[in-house]
Amino acid sequence: ARKYVVKKYFKGLPKRDDFEIVEYELPPLKDGQFIMKAEWISVDPYLRAYNPLNAIPYDQFSFQIGNVTESKHADFPVGCKVVSHMGWCDYCLIDEKILKDESNKVYKLPDVGLPTELGVGALGMHGITAYFGFLEICKPKSGETVVVTGAAGAVGSIVGQIAKIKGCRVIGFVGSDEKVEWLEKELGFDKAINYKSKDLSKALKEVAPNGVDCLFENVGGELSATIMSQMNRRGRVALCGCISVYNHDASERPKTTSVLPYIVARELKVEGFHVRNWYSPVNRWPEAITALVGWIKTGKIQAKSHVTEGFDKLFDALIGLLNGENFGKAVVKV
Ligand code: NDP
Repeated sequence: ARKYVVKKYFKGLPKRDDFEIVEYELPPLKDGQFIMKAEWISVDPYLRAYNPLNAIPYDQFSFQIGNVTESKHADFPVGCKVVSHMGWCDYCLIDEKILKDESNKVYKLPDVGLPTELGVGALGMHGITAYFGFLEICKPKSGETVVVTGAAGAVGSIVGQIAKIKGCRVIGFVGSDEKVEWLEKELGFDKAINYKSKDLSKALKEVAPNGVDCLFENVGGELSATIMSQMNRRGRVALCGCISVYNHDASERPKTTSVLPYIVARELKVEGFHVRNWYSPVNRWPEAITALVGWIKTGKIQAKSHVTEGFDKLFDALIGLLNGENFGKAVVKV
């Protein structure tokens, strides 16, 4: 079997030699264990963000979908598909200890008649983040104006489409004109703005003349301050991520407090969250998955995957994601 081991802390954009692909032998199977062969592996911004929290070296974590190839576990027979947080490895062995540890999030992928890879995208952690983060923190009402940053990504593209389902006016911020076009023409966003090419404050005022009620924040930095300066009283901000600073060391991050006066003056509710809060102590993920399956099947949500082929291309796929190449969810087909 092979796995990616992170052997150096990332400095700026991760480098190829920060990783090492290590070969290892899986031990003979015992009762209560099974072996999975990875089919789809997820690449995500949090792989970058959580790097300093781990002791070097560590196995690269992430979600993946595997097929059970050998099994001595009655609940996971050969042939079934399993989601887990076992990371960037092509084969892995799952035992009772791994199954009991919630951080590994091992569960059988239900066959819902949609592409398998959505299990690590719109029907996995990313769609669930969009669903609960937006609905339970922003609490959107029909007719309100919603802004989503990172709007063409795995989470953002789903948030924007849920906001449309809920009757909101939706504006997305993205990093290219092609993404602007994709959001407006294909995904049904009311407006999209390229954050690299405009006077952002003026551009937002033009498309949201009555102010912004909800912000679903994936990016952070100056963009946040610009949007919050145009939020309405009692607006709600779901702080999902801040990818604009993930490649900076803590000491290099802008020490801006420019958003605080807006939070006070407009009495904004700003809440950070982690999607695992809906997994444990009570697992509500199936509730989100059921709703998302319904919306995807009825064409109300388009779930696009941005596929890179090959286990050896995981690093390139991560760099592509951090550089904004992905439309929708970045995944690697092993
Ligand atoms: P995406 O699919 O959105 O991919 C990342 C995107 O971020 C890129 O495509 C790029 O798009 C954009 N980006 C990269 N660098 C910058 C930058 N400097 N400024 C602005 N945009 C940038 O990833 P995900 O949907 O998986 O994740 C989105 C966010 O959600 C991340 O911040 C992530 O950490 C967070 N997250 C949080 C969770 C939680 O539980 N709180 C769970 C899952 C994700 P572009 O071309 O538009 O620049």
